[in-house]
Amino acid sequence: MVDTEGRRPCRCLLADVPGEAEMARIIAERVAAMPEDLRADEAKRKERLEECKACAHLRNGTCALCGCYVELRTAKKNQHCPSVPPKW
Ligand code: SF4
Repeated sequence: MVDTEGRRPCRCLLADVPGEAEMARIIAERVAAMPEDLRADEAKRKERLEECKACAHLRNGTCALCGCYVELRTAKKNQHCPSVPPKW
């Protein structure tokens, strides 16, 4: 399967997808602006992102199950993985 520009979807975080640097920057800004009481701590977020990076549902930085940018979803303290059972 390829996207409209003939690229294969990669199982990468947005920050690692070629051509997505601007969106990765916007996501990083949104995470940084998130109130601390709503934000997962950095260790938890990294642990979640490792699960996403190993997951077959990751497509160009988004979760194919929920459509979220995983770099944003994993940063929210009260979010969970939509997989059944959840991976994080
Ligand atoms: S199903 Fe869960 S682990 Fe997989 S990409 Fe989505 S949020 Fe990440």
